[in-house]
Amino acid sequence: MTGQSRPKIPEPIKLAVRQKCRFACVNPECRCPIWDYEHIVDFAIVKEHREDNIVLLCPTCNQARKGSQFSRGRIAEWLQVLSNQTRPERLFFDFPTVDLGGNFVTSACTQSAYVFQIGHSYLHISSDNMASSINAKFWNKNGELSLAIEDSRYTIYTDVWDINYIRGSKVKNTPGVLTIKNGPGDTFLEVEFDSNNNRIGVYGQFWPADDCCLAIQRNGIYAGETLLSRNCAVQGTALAFWVRDGSPLYSAVGPIYGVYNVINAECCGILKTTVGFVWDIAFLLDPKRRCTLGGLKGIGVIGQRILG
Ligand SMILES: [Zn+2]
Repeated sequence: MTGQSRPKIPEPIKLAVRQKCRFACVNPECRCPIWDYEHIVDFAIVKEHREDNIVLLCPTCNQARKGSQFSRGRIAEWLQVLSNQTRPERLFFDFPTVDLGGNFVTSACTQSAYVFQIGHSYLHISSDNMASSINAKFWNKNGELSLAIEDSRYTIYTDVWDINYIRGSKVKNTPGVLTIKNGPGDTFLEVEFDSNNNRIGVYGQFWPADDCCLAIQRNGIYAGETLLSRNCAVQGTALAFWVRDGSPLYSAVGPIYGVYNVINAECCGILKTTVGFVWDIAFLLDPKRRCTLGGLKGIGVIGQRILG
């Protein structure tokens, strides 16, 4: 809308909307975990935020609604279906295991565990009223913030983003799959919501610096062709996997002992450190030459103090 900016939706109303929609897109055929607050009757008409006029809709369903494929009555029916569920489907769970390309992060020790951070970009799982929610930011190759997801609420800033969700099935034991494309055919991020196994799987590719592609594949995390980490487990860290870009975070403490510039790490267990694995962007650009600690295999790091 144009003209004066509208007031923000009050937090108690937002919480009530999330709860009535059960923390996902209100369409029972969709249930996408990435959504925005949408007014059923336009705010420009009603000029107020009322809980009974707001629902959660994913980008796809919101586009369909704008194209008049979903009527107001249809949305009311969906809300009725959700409120009639005596045992609501558990889309999210408390403290799921995050599977980053065959590396496993459990967040049981923290309220909000960062599982990955690349320069400004990050991905972490936080807790929202006994339901986990997803947080992520994505920069395009020009260094512009293009997509942000905050507590599962998305904001699109630039580019043509394609966000698609295929619902999982308990009967067929298949996870829900969220796909975020950077353009036609260019899959940027794939997230599996596997409620049967209390697991969130993350796969994709990121550009922490020019010409540096970091790929989370099914069988490991790679910088270009170089394997960085496979079958490693990280638990109870503030930050599990971190790609440094010279940002001041933790820089005062110098190298992260033992896990600094880790390459070819396989089957390692890291417990209760401040940071699990650290990779530098410069190191990723030229991993062979700058590697100071290579071939880390089968090593367990427990209770290491890094700060303070
Ligand atoms: Zn939807």
